Amino acid sequence: FNVIEIGGLRKTYRSRNGSVRAVDGVDLTVGEGEVFGVLGRSGAGKSTLLRCVNMLERPDAGTVTVDGVELTGLRGKRLRTARHGIGMIHQHFALLSSRTVAGNVAFALEVTGTPRAERKARVAELLELVGLSERADAYPAQLSGGQKQRVGIARALAARPRVLLSDEATSALDPETTDSILRLLLDLNRRLGLTILLITHEMTVVKRICTSAAVMRDGRFTESGAITDLLRRP
Ligand code: ADP
Ligand code: ADP
Repeated sequence: FNVIEIGGLRKTYRSRNGSVRAVDGVDLTVGEGEVFGVLGRSGAGKSTLLRCVNMLERPDAGTVTVDGVELTGLRGKRLRTARHGIGMIHQHFALLSSRTVAGNVAFALEVTGTPRAERKARVAELLELVGLSERADAYPAQLSGGQKQRVGIARALAARPRVLLSDEATSALDPETTDSILRLLLDLNRRLGLTILLITHEMTVVKRICTSAAVMRDGRFTESGAITDLLRRP
């Protein structure tokens, strides 16, 4: 089963100074339980591609289907609801600084419609899942980078998504912390059957956890396939 199916995706940014074809005809399928990496330099179009997968950007052309639902055909409330099935984590974590760790996770539960009565137990469950139960009452400023990303992951999993999008999730972290976060992602992939689509400029990340990958350049995939095949090529 293909959890993510993208066909003929295009996105152009227009401004007074001209236009940039950020994504210029991308086809992609990601099977259930896969960890798919999109590797490329800055400006290749990775972030735009990822933001089209959860429709933070609306593509100019092409289709995006996640978990059997064509998102490109939806608007308004139906799109917002479908989006709950897609979690996202960010390079700079994007936490609410005025809320505790538990508060950040609780907020995500609230936004995605978990009834108040279930929230407390669910916060505890999510923090347990990412190994952060001890820090429930800390504020983001009191956490290490790795701990902040664990909060980001707990929050992304609030609505029990089947897909997790990762936007350079380890790029702001040192190598040791990067490894611990990648191990956590692999663990979640295996335990929850979570399908992961990640973008990165680091080959080491792709080698470490991806089952398949694509190389992106100037808005297109120049290579893609199973990781074993890609690494074997000259
Ligand atoms: P990457 O994530 O690989 O660094 P991006 O998707 O961020 O690539 O950017 C692809 C291209 O689109 C770049 O040329 C970038 O400058 C341009 N771009 C990205 N976002 C915008 C935007 N909001 N407005 C105009 N141009 C943009
Ligand atoms: P904030 O002030 O940062 O918004 P709150 O203390 O108001 O955080 O808590 C927000 C939510 O998180 C509430 O639903 C609360 O029940 C839950 N919560 C707070 N502390 C914990 C904890 N240690 N374990 C589990 N849930 C917690």
